[in-house]
Amino acid sequence: MNKCPVCKKATLKQVFLESELPTRQCGDCGGIWISANDYLVWLKTLENEPQQEPVINTQIPQTDSQVATICPDCGRFLRRYRIWPHVEFHLDRCETCNGIWFDRHEWDAVKGMNLHHQVNAFFTRVWQDKLKEKEVRDRLEQMYVERFGVEDYGRVQEIRHWLQNHPKGHYLLAFLTDKEPYRIR
Ligand SMILES: [Zn+2]
Ligand SMILES: [Zn+2]
Repeated sequence: MNKCPVCKKATLKQVFLESELPTRQCGDCGGIWISANDYLVWLKTLENEPQQEPVINTQIPQTDSQVATICPDCGRFLRRYRIWPHVEFHLDRCETCNGIWFDRHEWDAVKGMNLHHQVNAFFTRVWQDKLKEKEVRDRLEQMYVERFGVEDYGRVQEIRHWLQNHPKGHYLLAFLTDKEPYRIR
């Protein structure tokens, strides 16, 4: 094994990232394979260093159309993960040995956001659920803006907030939605 999971011909060669992180790189497509263990060992060396705040860049370059398929270590299929809402940026990870494939420039893109210390978080249920929730939320918001118009949407949100935080909110809502609140039935 040890062949590039994308071009499947070239053999991966050892390259060090950030001076101490051993990875294997394809000389052909420039992709990088990082084994789970090497990554964890490298993280340990950083334990005492101050963490920098993530700087999210949603303009990160789109991932190549080429798809990494087979884990160079254990031969299983890689699973493709998106890491940021609305951005077609993917990392491929082996679900068996947890190794990660970065296409050319993807490590630099992740590092540019100060997220290279938290790569494992991308593959957690929490991260992936949040990503999807954000996308659904944004899609619905866009739909409301289109239906109501920006101004009315802003106003109805204010009213909603006021009602939700009002101790008699549901009475007020009943009054609002009653067609004839001054009629006795
Ligand atoms: Zn390659
Ligand atoms: Zn694997």
